[in-house]
Amino acid sequence: MEFTSLPHPSPTPDAERNARIADPGFGKVHTDHMVVIDYDAEKGGWHKATIGPREPIPLDPAASVLHYAQEIFEGMKAFRHEDGGLAMFRPEQNARRFNASARRMAMPEIPEELFLDAVKLLVQKDAAWMPPVEGGSLYIRPFMFASEAFLGVRPATQYKFVVILVSSGNYFKGGVNPVKIWVSQDYVRAAPGGTGAAKTGGNYAASLVPQAEAIKQGCDQVVFLDAVEHKWVEELGGMNLFFIRRDGSVITPPLTGTILPGITRDSLIAMLREEGLEVREEPYSITQWREEAESGELLETLACGTAAVVTPVGTVASPSGEFTIGTGGIGQMAQKMREQLVGVQNGRIEDQHGWVMR
Ligand code: PMP
Repeated sequence: MEFTSLPHPSPTPDAERNARIADPGFGKVHTDHMVVIDYDAEKGGWHKATIGPREPIPLDPAASVLHYAQEIFEGMKAFRHEDGGLAMFRPEQNARRFNASARRMAMPEIPEELFLDAVKLLVQKDAAWMPPVEGGSLYIRPFMFASEAFLGVRPATQYKFVVILVSSGNYFKGGVNPVKIWVSQDYVRAAPGGTGAAKTGGNYAASLVPQAEAIKQGCDQVVFLDAVEHKWVEELGGMNLFFIRRDGSVITPPLTGTILPGITRDSLIAMLREEGLEVREEPYSITQWREEAESGELLETLACGTAAVVTPVGTVASPSGEFTIGTGGIGQMAQKMREQLVGVQNGRIEDQHGWVMR
C-alpha cells in the first residue's frame, strides 16, 4: 500500500528537539509525526495510509472503542548503531503478536508487511528524535482501535491503525536495581479463556489497582497468580518471569493463554539454552518459589520485557511475609543476559539469531 505523505506545517525546531531529547525519560517526549491507516469493512478493508504531523484524532462520541474497548497495541524499540544506522529488535514478532491480539478482540488483522512498513517509515522520518544518550531508543507504539460510531455489542466495521513514537532515555540510568514485588492477593490479571494473552488496553486498566496496592506496600511491581487455584506464578504487570535454579534448570510459566507471550521471554529461552541451561516452560507455584528461595535451590529470578530488558527480582512480599532471592542483589545470569541482549540490540554483539532488523 502507498503511504500519502502529509507535510508538517510546523515541525519542532532543531534546537528545541535537541533540548528535549537530551534527557527524555520515558513516555513524555513525543516526536513530530504519526502513521494512520484506515480500515473499513465496506471499502475492502485497509485502504488509506498516511504519514503526517502527529495531531489529535477526531473521534465520534459513539466510537465503539470508547464503549466496548476494542483496542490493541504493541511496544517495541528502535536503536542507533555505532555506524549511524537504525535497527529494530524482532519487529516481525510484534507484528505477529499484534495480529494474535486482533483475532482475540474480533478486530481485523493487518498484513505483517504493512505493519512493518508503517513502523520503518515512521522511525526513518523521526530518526532525529533518537536520544543521543547511551541506552537511548525510540519507543514505538503501534495501536489499533474501533472507530465506528455504533452503540451495540458487536465487532465494529471501522478501525484505525496508528503508530507513534516516544524518545526514551536509558531505563537503567543509575544502574540496574533489583525490584521488590508484591504478590497480589485480591486481584488476578487474567483467567483461562480470557484476554490475558492479548495486548489489549483493558488488561492494563485492570492491573492499575493491584499495581497501586504494590506501591502502597513499598514494592515496585505486582506479580499475579493464576485465577483458578491462586497458586501458580504468572507474570508481572508488564514483564515475564524466569526462575534460575542451582541444578542448571530454568523454569518459566507456560503460555496457556493467561500471560502475554513476551518477545524478550522468547529470546531469553533461546539464550539460556545456549548457556547450557535446561529451560522448561512449566507451572511454578508461589510455595515452590518461597521454599526454593529459602533453601538456596533458587539462584535468581529474572523479570523481562522490552522496557526494562532483564531485571533481577530481589525480594517478594505478601501479607504472610517476605523472602529474598539469592543475596537480593544482581545475579550473574541477570547481568549476563541483560548485557547480551542489550549488546545484540545496539549492534555491539554479533547477532547470531537474525533478530536485528536494520
Ligand atoms: N507481560 C506483559 C503483561 C507485558 O505488557 C509485557 C510488555 N509487552 C511483557 C510481558 C513482556 O513482553 P515483551 O518482552 O514482548 O516486551
